[in-house]
Amino acid sequence: LLYGLQKTTLTRIRDRFGEEVFSQFFEKIVKICQEKGLVKGESLMIDSTLIKANASLDSLIPKDPEAKTEIKKGNGLTPPPDRKISNATHQSQTDPDATLAYKKGTLRSLKYKVHTSIDSDSRVILDCFVTTGAYHDSQAYISRIEHILKTFSRNLKEVIADRAYGSASILSTLASKKLETYIPIFSGRSGRASSLPERGFVYDDIKDQFICAEGKALLHYPKTFSDRKRYHTKAADCITCTQQMTCLGNVKKKEKVRYVDRTIYQPLYEEVKERMTTSIFIQKLTERMWKMEGRTYVEDGRNYCGS
Ligand code: SF4
Repeated sequence: LLYGLQKTTLTRIRDRFGEEVFSQFFEKIVKICQEKGLVKGESLMIDSTLIKANASLDSLIPKDPEAKTEIKKGNGLTPPPDRKISNATHQSQTDPDATLAYKKGTLRSLKYKVHTSIDSDSRVILDCFVTTGAYHDSQAYISRIEHILKTFSRNLKEVIADRAYGSASILSTLASKKLETYIPIFSGRSGRASSLPERGFVYDDIKDQFICAEGKALLHYPKTFSDRKRYHTKAADCITCTQQMTCLGNVKKKEKVRYVDRTIYQPLYEEVKERMTTSIFIQKLTERMWKMEGRTYVEDGRNYCGS
């Protein structure tokens, strides 16, 4: 059905009938695809793309009316070198919904972000959601999954995405929905605790304690943190220790003890890290790359499974 329509026709339909009717039109098309057996709806892939807004950098004005209003003009594509602009302080006068965003190798400019979800099997687009450019890829993910589950795909079994979506909260939410995930861990969020064995502390999951290089136990300290647990030595353990200079445990000067933190998501990270090395995981990511980005795994040049 879509092949018969020009892009401009779709734009006109949206402008004439409004967003709600346009969404119904889009959903109707997907439902026809489902009725015809084109969409299985068991596996979902997602990706986000930045698109340039139709607004120049020269349209940015300070948000605070009291702020200095002197605006040095650039050429509309790049700001003058001495002009400091950010989403926190500036907003476009001509397109207030567009925000500054950039991707490596591209110019910083005003942008939007399109979050697209496809049926992995047929590559039919199930959801297309537009946010401002500065929105992180993962921010809308769970709400879009819920929308797709409700609208089209109650038999969804698995989701495939790149590491931008691999945060602890997303992975744990998807696990609670009994969805199989093929999403590499977003390493920046996997927490320092993941490298603790290399730092000289080994976790004992039976006793829920760490053992340090000197063989002393660090016991769980009953202080509550939202995302981690803390483990302490006894003061007497460290005072006489000969490894004090090289020990990488954090120092609590007042009590003269060492401590380490362990993220509450560590078991989840370890499980996903193990799955990331399996052939099925690599195969799913490879498939996502060429289906959503038109690239091969080798062309991507990144190693999703080695870190
Ligand atoms: S300083 Fe304390 S925590 Fe570090 S190795 Fe020595 S006893 Fe263990």
